[in-house]
Amino acid sequence: MKITNAEIVISAVSKKQYPDDRLPEIALAGRSNVGKSSFINKLINRKNLARTSSKPGKTQTLNFYRLNDAFYFVDVPGYGYAKVSKKEREKWGTMMEEYFETRDTLKAVVLITDSRHEPTRDDIQMYDFLKYFELPVIVIATKIDKVPKNKRSSHLKRTRETLEMEPEDELVAFSSETGDGKDESWRLLRRYL
Ligand code: GDP
Repeated sequence: MKITNAEIVISAVSKKQYPDDRLPEIALAGRSNVGKSSFINKLINRKNLARTSSKPGKTQTLNFYRLNDAFYFVDVPGYGYAKVSKKEREKWGTMMEEYFETRDTLKAVVLITDSRHEPTRDDIQMYDFLKYFELPVIVIATKIDKVPKNKRSSHLKRTRETLEMEPEDELVAFSSETGDGKDESWRLLRRYL
C-alpha cells in the first residue's frame, strides 16, 4: 500500500474525542519498547510520524493517524512497563476497555511481540483481552533480524503456542530494519480496509 498522506488527527484520552468520520480503523498494541512506533513508521514510510509515545511519565493517549484520508491507524499506549503506578495502570485499563468495547469502526488489531523472546504474561493478557472483544488479531513478531535464520520458525511456533493463538489469526515475522514482513503485513491489513 502506498501512503501518500499521513497525519495525526488527535491524541485522545476519552471517547468523545475519537474521530467521528466513520473511516475503518486498525489499532496497534504492544509492550513498551517492543518496536511499535518503528513498525508504524516502516509501514507508512515515514521516519518519525509515530513517536515513541509510551515512555513512562508521558500522557497515555490513543493516537489516531489518518492515512490517505481513507482509514486510521490507532496507536495504543504501550503496556507492561514495570515502573508504572497502579493508578496509571488502572487508567490505561479503563481507557482500553472504553475503546475496544465501543469502537464499531475498529476492524482488527495488530499486536506486536518481540520475536526474540517468548511472549510475556502481559502479551498473553493483551491477546486474551482482544479476543474477549472478538476482534481479529494480527500478531507481528518484530525484530526478526535479530533471530538467526535457522531459529526463526521455532521462535514463531513458540509465539503462536504461548499466545494460544486462534487458527484464523495470522502471525507475521517482521523487521523494521530490513523491511521483512512489510508486504505481508499490508496484504493482511488490506482485508479490513
Ligand atoms: P515502541 O516503544 O514500541 O514504539 O518501540 P520503538 O519503535 O521506539 O523501538 C524500540 C527500540 O527497538 C528502538 O531502539 C528501535 O530502534 C528498536 N527496534 C524496533 N524495531 C526493530 C527491528 O525490527 N529490529 C531491530 N534490530 N531493532 C528494532
